[in-house]
Amino acid sequence: MTAQLIDGNALSRHLRTEVAERAAALKARGTTPGLAVILVGDNPASQVYVRNKVKACHDAGLHSVLEQYPENLTEAELLARVAALNHDPAIHGILVQLPLPKHMDGQKVIEAIAPAKDVDGFHIASAGALMTGLPGFWPCTPYGCMKMLESIGYELKGKHAVVIGRSNIVGKPMALMLLQQNATVTICHSATRDLKAQTLQADVIVAAVGKRKVLTADMVKPGAVVLDVGMNRDDHGKLCGDVDFDAVKAVAGWITPVPGGVGPMTITMLLVNTLEAAERAAR
Ligand code: NAP
Repeated sequence: MTAQLIDGNALSRHLRTEVAERAAALKARGTTPGLAVILVGDNPASQVYVRNKVKACHDAGLHSVLEQYPENLTEAELLARVAALNHDPAIHGILVQLPLPKHMDGQKVIEAIAPAKDVDGFHIASAGALMTGLPGFWPCTPYGCMKMLESIGYELKGKHAVVIGRSNIVGKPMALMLLQQNATVTICHSATRDLKAQTLQADVIVAAVGKRKVLTADMVKPGAVVLDVGMNRDDHGKLCGDVDFDAVKAVAGWITPVPGGVGPMTITMLLVNTLEAAERAAR
């Protein structure tokens, strides 16, 4: 069989149009959703990411500010900026681009963000809310994966989902979201003994590792849904995921490409979270 593609660009366009409509409605009632993005240092990849985030906000009619600081900004100065943004009524979401310079404690900075403005979903309060099923902000990448499953009308109840990777920003929240939708969830990681034995049982596989060809065709049950979160470079410098795409697409039922899959969904869900934060603040 040849898998059907889950097109992250098309789904993103659709969801961003919805965000723009809801943002316009909120604006008409006097609140323009606002996102503040803080970048410390001159990491080239981070610069691209923050520019894309600010542009996406602008395109959807959201207010956004980009605060760029030199590498030698002190942690105390950064915490003071976060505190000021916590109290700024024009700002509903605060995003501190990671990684931060080595002299800063990234977790401490994230914990300084007001949970009501934690649109990245990295605050411990957001993690706790997800774990307990309470309202809060979900991390954008796994949230985007859930939207992709929703977009194909996939019923997770009773299905077996295997998540490869257990990071705090992708793997673990992904597993909790799948569990919340009544999937039976297995989390695999670098110490998992027989990854193939696990993935072969899966109806849904989420690969979030950061290594090329972690998931090959012989590891996939025919018809399974495969979501590829990985972002790697192949030998020619071309962007690729964790999945051996060409071979796996001949076995899977649904598959996300890289690029054009989970990647665009991450920024889209940041817009959704920012809008949601503004709507909550306006209630
Ligand atoms: P990470 O923090 O490095 O976590 C990688 C996880 O993979 C770890 O849990 C690690 O296990 C596990 N792992 C490593 N080798 C493995 C193996 N051979 N078999 C099974 N598991 C293995 O990475 P991350 O931040 O979660 O990101 C994962 C990938 O997603 C990266 O390529 C990243 O660039 C990409 N990403 C993409 C987006 C997007 O928007 N598309 C967003 C975020 C991340 P241990 O815990 O045992 O070390």
